[in-house]
Amino acid sequence: VDRQARTASMAPSTGKPAVTPDSVINLDHGDPTMFEAFWRETGDAAELVIPGWQTMSYFSDVTNVCWFLEPELDRQVRRLHRTVGNAAVDGYHVLVGTGSTQLFMAALYALSPDSGDEPVSVVSTAPYYSSYPAVTDFLRSGLFRWAGDADTFEGDSYIELVCSPNNPDGTIREAVLASKTGNGKTVHDLAYYWPQYTPITKRADHDIMLFTVSKSTGHAGTRIGWALVKDRAIARKMTKFVELNTIGVSKDSQLRAAKVLAAVSDGYERRPEQAKGTTTPPHRLFDFGRRKMVERWSMLRASAAASGIFSLPEETSGFCNFTKETAATNPAFAWLRCDREDVDDCASFLRGHKILTRSGAQFGADPRYVRVSMLDRDDAFDIFVNRLSSLK
Ligand code: PMP
Repeated sequence: VDRQARTASMAPSTGKPAVTPDSVINLDHGDPTMFEAFWRETGDAAELVIPGWQTMSYFSDVTNVCWFLEPELDRQVRRLHRTVGNAAVDGYHVLVGTGSTQLFMAALYALSPDSGDEPVSVVSTAPYYSSYPAVTDFLRSGLFRWAGDADTFEGDSYIELVCSPNNPDGTIREAVLASKTGNGKTVHDLAYYWPQYTPITKRADHDIMLFTVSKSTGHAGTRIGWALVKDRAIARKMTKFVELNTIGVSKDSQLRAAKVLAAVSDGYERRPEQAKGTTTPPHRLFDFGRRKMVERWSMLRASAAASGIFSLPEETSGFCNFTKETAATNPAFAWLRCDREDVDDCASFLRGHKILTRSGAQFGADPRYVRVSMLDRDDAFDIFVNRLSSLK
């Protein structure tokens, strides 16, 4: 009763109004509200109470390079990567940021040369995540500057951003400039390298890898991301950036993220003897996520086929070392192309039908493409696929 009363009186905001069949459907942002249904069922295992006297200090562990990292988050990040096998953690520093967006900026700061008159060029293969140019250039830094598509970049001093699976088109990517000689540095943004989106084919072990709860568990509002960093000096510089930018990262959020990550790992570590005698199946995030994504991609493909004027990237698959099954990639975004000859701006065409998406132009690509979020709530997604199938 207490819990019900508490929940009712707090009436948490769910962010967006309910949708009806003629609503505007906003799939522009990658808001991961699809995962709410899973966490609603999780109950106490992901619940956290923080007494008034706790988490007051600026400091978490002054002996750690990242002195504001809560030790429990450090433990749960390493534990989840070991459980999933998607990234190496031994020999890596874990750094926490206010979203992986802050750590992306920290990486640019840390990788910029100490000396030199010219800002270093920041590049990524097109289509690239639209935030990369926006975040790189918004303060007009003298240290780094956006230089566009990595494929056409000439020069030997650069920071290459490698997003894999890629936002917006879901492709699996590798660095394109690393094999050329030069002073290049690489940042791997692995926000979507989780089993609900793609088979886990290898344990990634790059110099700097960025992850976030926004896409792994769906807790975008908690604003917690982490970086796995090999080199201690780079880890120190990235930590310095966060110190100068926000003097650390909310401990309340870190503890909540740790609790949520622990609940995910617990789902896969419950041993058979513990499960014996219970009738409830284990509550497993990646199983839920994969089931939803498979279902949604099949609905979307059917809808595009029914309409006849859209095309989607071809499905690829691979053997997943985590699930021990062959699995298809089910990207968090659909990279949708409008094939109608008279439509050269797919985003405005869809806007005319009350579907908001992000134009290919924002990703350094053709405006005949749009990026559509696949992670919204069921009601919005259902209306979207229905509406799309009727467009001729
Ligand atoms: N990288 C990629 C590729 C993303 O798509 C996003 C979120 N849209 C982020 C980073 C940022 O995530 P966060 O919420 O952790 O800042």
